[in-house]
Amino acid sequence: MAYPSPYRAGMSSLGFQWITTLVRQEGIAAERVFLPDAPEAWRAARMAPLSCETQTPLNRFPIIAVSLAYELEIAGLIELLDLAGIPPRREDRGPGDPIVLLGGPISMASPLAAAPFVDAMLLGEAEETAPPALRDFFDSDTRERWLDHLELYPGAYIPERHGTALPPIAKASDRLLPARSAWLAPDAELSSMFLLEGERGCHRQCTFCVMRRTTNGGMRLVEPDRILSLVPDEAHKVGLVGAAISDHPKLVPLLQTLVDSGRQVSLSSLRADRVARKTDIARLLRQSGARTLTVASDGASERLRATLQKKTSEDYLARCAAQAGDLGYAVFKVYMMIGVPDETDEDIDELVAFTRELRRASGRARVALGVAPFVAKRNTPLDGQPFAGIKVVERRMKRLQRGLRGAAEVRPVSARWAWVEYELSQGGPEVGEAAFAAWQAGGRFADWKRALKAVDPATRRPWASPARAAK
Ligand code: SF4
Repeated sequence: MAYPSPYRAGMSSLGFQWITTLVRQEGIAAERVFLPDAPEAWRAARMAPLSCETQTPLNRFPIIAVSLAYELEIAGLIELLDLAGIPPRREDRGPGDPIVLLGGPISMASPLAAAPFVDAMLLGEAEETAPPALRDFFDSDTRERWLDHLELYPGAYIPERHGTALPPIAKASDRLLPARSAWLAPDAELSSMFLLEGERGCHRQCTFCVMRRTTNGGMRLVEPDRILSLVPDEAHKVGLVGAAISDHPKLVPLLQTLVDSGRQVSLSSLRADRVARKTDIARLLRQSGARTLTVASDGASERLRATLQKKTSEDYLARCAAQAGDLGYAVFKVYMMIGVPDETDEDIDELVAFTRELRRASGRARVALGVAPFVAKRNTPLDGQPFAGIKVVERRMKRLQRGLRGAAEVRPVSARWAWVEYELSQGGPEVGEAAFAAWQAGGRFADWKRALKAVDPATRRPWASPARAAK
């Protein structure tokens, strides 16, 4: 079970931990391998990445199941395989090399750029596909026979057989919920935190979001009694995970019970309308030790939030800011996107003026905006929308920073790397080949730009995909 980012990130991934657990329950001796913290030192020492369990070099495993979270981690996957002496491109591997099977969050959105590096992928929820697929691997006498079996699984995508035609993503049965941690890892980013799902999916319809209602039937709830029964006594920190966890109808009593038991609790995401109307949520999180109250606004103005179908209004955001101040939070943080379709400088000016209002409402709590450039994703209504442009995004970031100087902190995500993410998200295997060329050239932004610009436009989109056609 390989994770193409360092240990501290991989061990904070609930999906990675959960699938590893289920594979082990299948009777397979799965071991964990992460991208080393300092790959160049490992390269200089000619050391292959080692498994956590038995310090076995990665290239000694017959099959490597990789969890890929997002597009830019493709570079980590290439690096991880190369460090192990495994040719990153499938076409360059031989019969003595391990098989590479890929899954993870990227499989819901934009898996095609990773196609050149894998033998197969399992798209979507992998609880009922990854463990038996790995069992089949050990029961099959040849790679071809294994692929014959695998092809019958929901969500199985085999690039050499399917080209760019992706199958619909798999959906696991509800009885397997909730995913939960197998380790309390002190050195993970979410240090020693027991993670478990309070729900899966989302019932809302934001037009930019992969987790919207149309994905695998929307929101699937886990009952609080079941959640509480799974929290181990030794877990002092509990993270409730779910795209729409703050919409769980029984969240407040669940939080109350966890906080009363003396635990620190955090939620993976908060909706401003829910926090504004259910004031106990912010109160209980603060009581359990939280110092930052974070909500998402996404669109820079009321007009854009309406077109994105983000049901968050200025009124809700202002009420959240006031709660942050009243409850003694240190920071009120708002996630925002810049460069969404149809955005103009006037929307940014509205954001500046409104953020200043938030600052007044938040009292002693500082205001911070986490600002990411918009990147169109597959399986969403905004799939195929263009990237706003690096210069446009950078100019609007500067306009925002200038307008908010002294009033709020702006934490921008790089426009350049967002453009790379966009190309990887919207492209197919040809863009994966460009990623390999960029990595070979050194992996700096200039290398990516050169490699991506060299992709022949005639080889790009549209690709055949039932999910796209059904949009
Ligand atoms: S952005 Fe959030 S609220 Fe909107 S569909 Fe996605 S998960 Fe749901």
